[in-house]
Parts: sequence; structure tokens; C-alpha cells
Amino acid sequence: MVKHNPGTVTRIRTDDDDLFKFVYIALGCSVQAFIKYCRPTLIIDGGYLKGEFKVNARVWEYLQNINPETRARTHFPGNRYFLMTSNSVESINSMSRFARKMQILMLIEYFRATTQQWSFQKRNVVAEAKTTLTPWTEMIIKANKKPCNNWMVYPISNSRFEVKSSTHKSVIVDFQQRTYTCRRWKIDGLPCGHVIKVLTMNHYEDCFEFTLKAYFTETLRKTYEDSVNPLPSPSEWAIPDDLMIMKPPIMERR
Ligand SMILES: [Zn+2]
Repeated sequence: MVKHNPGTVTRIRTDDDDLFKFVYIALGCSVQAFIKYCRPTLIIDGGYLKGEFKVNARVWEYLQNINPETRARTHFPGNRYFLMTSNSVESINSMSRFARKMQILMLIEYFRATTQQWSFQKRNVVAEAKTTLTPWTEMIIKANKKPCNNWMVYPISNSRFEVKSSTHKSVIVDFQQRTYTCRRWKIDGLPCGHVIKVLTMNHYEDCFEFTLKAYFTETLRKTYEDSVNPLPSPSEWAIPDDLMIMKPPIMERR
């Protein structure tokens, strides 16, 4: 994997009895694209707590004693952009529901091949895009523009404006500090209706300056510019001398 996809990171964790516990693989081109071009958002999924009555006393005590910012998305202080749930992880789980029953090498190959296919498809889709912002971003900005036709803008200074929406709710847009009291910028990284309204009033139609670089077509193109490469047949693999020996995990029947 590392030989054919340079920069790939692989880790295997076993327990004290050398039983397999976890495998972690990050393809080189995915690592580079994430570092250079993506919104710095990680979604982590794992065990499920299915209902309050199934949380045992020890787990409950543990959760009570840790900072809520580290375990609950409602308390998360960082940027969440549009990601308010772990749905994308659920999609991966659903997509791989049959593959997860395969042997581990086949499962790893399934994920590698899927990533190769996604990468190829995304590259072709981006090649068709003609706009500066990605088609999805254009659609969101258009939707943000829609309700603000009859909103009012009251300048406070050359860089600060009060925007009153149709419900007369007042929002302060500060271009110098890059703060908008509606907080949409912090959540989305895209210009909200308040920002668009002030820009339009000042005959400054394009919103590029107020859009995260991650939403630009050029960024999306660069994200998928490197290909995921297939592996040769197992007989051609270079087996390292210090190969780790481990035992299969003891599986619980579900
Ligand atoms: Zn706003």
C-alpha cells in the first residue's frame, strides 16, 4: 500500500496477547489533500450508546467527569461548518455493511478501491465546473440571497453595518473584525444573507472574499488531483523482514 501510494500512513494495534485490535490506514493523497485543501473537520465514530438506560454507572460517572467540549457536539467550541451530525460516517457504515463481513485484507482493498473510484469520479465532475465557487457553494449562496431582498441596511461606519431582516431582528456585520453577530460565518465559512445584503448595497456583488478557500472550484480540483493507485497481486507484494505476527481477534457474535 505504502509503496504504490506514497505518503500512506498505516498503523496496527494489538492487545497484550498479540490479538488484533485496530488497523488505521490513511492514503497518501488523502492525507495531503486534507492538510492542504480541506476544511479542518474530523468526524469520529465508534461504539454506540443506545439509550440512557444502557449507560452503566461507571460510564456515566466517566462522562460526568470529563469536559463536555470533548464529548458533545453541542458544546464543541471549534468550527462545525455545515456538519452538525456524524451522518457522513453513517453513510460509510451503510455503504460497507456487506464488505465488513469480508476478511480484513479484502475489506481494506474494498475501501482502497472505493476511494480510487470516488477520486476518479470527483475529478471528472470538477472538470465540468465553470464557476469560481463550486456548484454546491453557488447553490447555497443563492439560497442565502433569496430572503434578504427587503432587508434594511443601516451603516454605522465604513466597515460596520446594522442589518435588519424582515422579522426586524438586528445583526451587526463588521467587515474589519470579520464578525457577524448572527454567527453564520463561524458555522459555515460562507457569506450569510446579512453579509450578502451589505455587499449588494455597496455594489460589491461577488462574495469570494468572504468564502473559505475550501469552497472554491480550484481547491476542489486540487483536492482530487492525485490518483489512488491499485495494488499488484499479493504474489508481487514486497513483504518486510520485520513483519508483525498477530492473532485474529476474538469476535462477539451479534
Ligand atoms: Zn448573517
